[in-house]
Parts: sequence; C-alpha cells; structure tokens
Amino acid sequence: MITCELHEPTGLAEAAQLLAQFPGRARLLAGGTDLLVDLKSARTTAGHLVSLARIESLRGIESRSGLRLGAMTTIAQIERSPLVRGPFAALRDAARLMASPQVRHLATIGGNIASAVPCADLPPVLGVLDALVVLWSPHGERTAALAEFFTGPRQTIRREDEVLIAILVPQPPPRFGAAYERFALREGNSIAVASVAASLTLDESGAMRAARLMLGAVAPIPLPVRVVEEVLRGRRLEETLDEAAEIAADAARPISDVRGSAAFRRRLVRVLTRRALLAAHQRARESSHD
Ligand SMILES: Cc1cc2nc3c(=O)[nH]c(=O)nc-3n(C[C@H](O)[C@H](O)[C@H](O)COP(=O)(O)OP(=O)(O)OC[C@H]3O[C@@H](n4cnc5c(N)ncnc54)[C@H](O)[C@@H]3O)c2cc1C
Repeated sequence: MITCELHEPTGLAEAAQLLAQFPGRARLLAGGTDLLVDLKSARTTAGHLVSLARIESLRGIESRSGLRLGAMTTIAQIERSPLVRGPFAALRDAARLMASPQVRHLATIGGNIASAVPCADLPPVLGVLDALVVLWSPHGERTAALAEFFTGPRQTIRREDEVLIAILVPQPPPRFGAAYERFALREGNSIAVASVAASLTLDESGAMRAARLMLGAVAPIPLPVRVVEEVLRGRRLEETLDEAAEIAADAARPISDVRGSAAFRRRLVRVLTRRALLAAHQRARESSHD
C-alpha cells in the first residue's frame, strides 16, 4: 500500500511552494503511470505527491512557429491532434506505438521525458526534431535542448525545485522528413527493446543537407549519434545507408536483460537505423512535392 499525502495545486507557484515545503520528500505527479508503479513496487518512495493535474496552463498543443506542447498533454492527445502531422508525423507515430490506449489516456509527454527511462519512446523522436524543454522554478524559466536534458538512467539536468512545463518543437525547414522505428516483444503494453529516430533535410538535388539520428533503449540515455549525422551530410542516402547503419550499431551501448541480449540489440539498431533513415527520406521527398 502506498502511504503518502496527495496535494493538488492549481498553479505553478503553489506547486513550487509545496516542493519547497517538503524538500527531498515531495515528488511531482503527472499521469502516474510510471511513478505509481514505482511507488507500489517500492522502487522509489515519497511522502508527498504534488499533482500537476489541476494546472490548466500545462495542458494542450499550440502551433507557434512550430509546436508548443504543454508538459501535461497526454499521449492520446498527441496521437489525435491535427497539429501533430506533416513534418511532425514521427511524433504521432511514436505516440501510437506506446503502451495501450488506457495508459496513453493518462500518460503525459512531460512524464515520459522527466522520468528519463532509457527506453521511453518520445525522447528519440523529439531529439531528431531538435526539441527544447522548458523548465520553470520560482527563480525563473530556462530552456535546454532535449538532447542535453538526460544525464543517466532516471537522471536529468532538472533541479528538484524545477517543473518541466513545456516542450518546444521548432518548425522544420522545407524538404524535411522524420521517422521512428522500434522493436518490442509484442504489440500492446510493451516497451521498446531498441528504437531509432531519424530526420533528414534534403537540398534541391536530393542530397542530405542535414541529418539527425537518435537511439533509444540501447544506452543509459537517449543517444544522439553525431558521427552518422556528419557522415550523411552532403551525400545521397543510397550511397551512405550501410555505413550509417554500421556506425549507429557501433555507437550503441546496450545491456543484456530479459528483453534481449546486448548483441541482439546491436543487430536491431543496424536494422532499425536503415528503416528509420529510409522512411525519413521518403517523407522528405514527399514533402518537397507539397
Ligand atoms: C503498462 C505500461 C506500459 C507502458 N508502455 C510504455 C511504452 O510503450 N513507452 C514508453 O515510453 N513508456 C511506457 N510506459 C511508461 C509511462 O507510461 C510513460 O513514460 C509515461 O509517459 C509517463 O508519464 P506520466 O504522466 O504517467 O508520468 P508520472 O508517472 O506521473 O511521472 C513520471 C516521472 O516524471 C516526473 N514528472 C512528471 N511530470 C513532470 C513534470 N512536468 N516536471 C517534472 N517532473 C515530472 C515524476 O515526478 C516522476 O518522477 C508504460 C507504463 C505502463 C504502466
């Protein structure tokens, strides 16, 4: 049984006050799909849960020279939003692959990022979309690149007094495409064994002007593979696909666990990198005809 006190502030200042009142003993609660499982299994403890559910300003998706997603936006809202399509379609794809409809109705984008679980589905996609996270505390607001947010398994640059309030996804340039590929042991309610997100921007000739690649579930953090990005730049995908897949597989730092061995995960990265790059390329080519 979980024994802790639930607080339901209606504004950020009140939430911050509660965090300050119970230092080291209060935890922010979003959808609870990670945190409550961890509390029930005694993986973590908390004397006070500070729910963000009543803070309306943290909800919803806006189109503002790109997208602004409030941290309490649920995965189901992302899945269904008419704004999450076109160059942002990979984010919708990742949302659709996550968990089950029941979990997606509770789980939030903020919780998916802040929990910093290496196999989480949204960070790799948001990383290749060059997303930024917005952190708020009574001392002010700061913005950080999502790729710099994670420091280790379940560890981030977020200070204890900070709330992740939003995720900003800049408007991609023309001839841009992104894709997300993952392997899981079954379709519903199962986390990624390995995942790869890729994005590409093509120039007028069809060569790659810019590329991003990020791996999930195969390193202590969602892992950007900068070497692949450099290898791809200025070249055509058909000349570089095999090389990119090899480099990504080498860059992975997988562990062996009940879901698969490190060797199996490395092989998955090779396959998923090819698929993600090909799908991103296809989307970039299609967007150039829009
Ligand atoms: C059956 C099941 C299947 C699942 N499948 C998947 C899957 O396929 N893919 C996947 O990625 N995940 C999966 N998950 C994990 C989980 O559902 C997601 O990570 C979810 O997005 C977490 O969001 P939440 O709102 O429930 O976070 P919570 O559980 O409320 O919080 C998670 C952590 O983040 C912190 N936190 C939450 N919001 C904020 C904020 N705004 N600012 C600062 N800190 C915050 C909390 O303090 C806590 O430490 C699954 C979970 C279950 C139970």
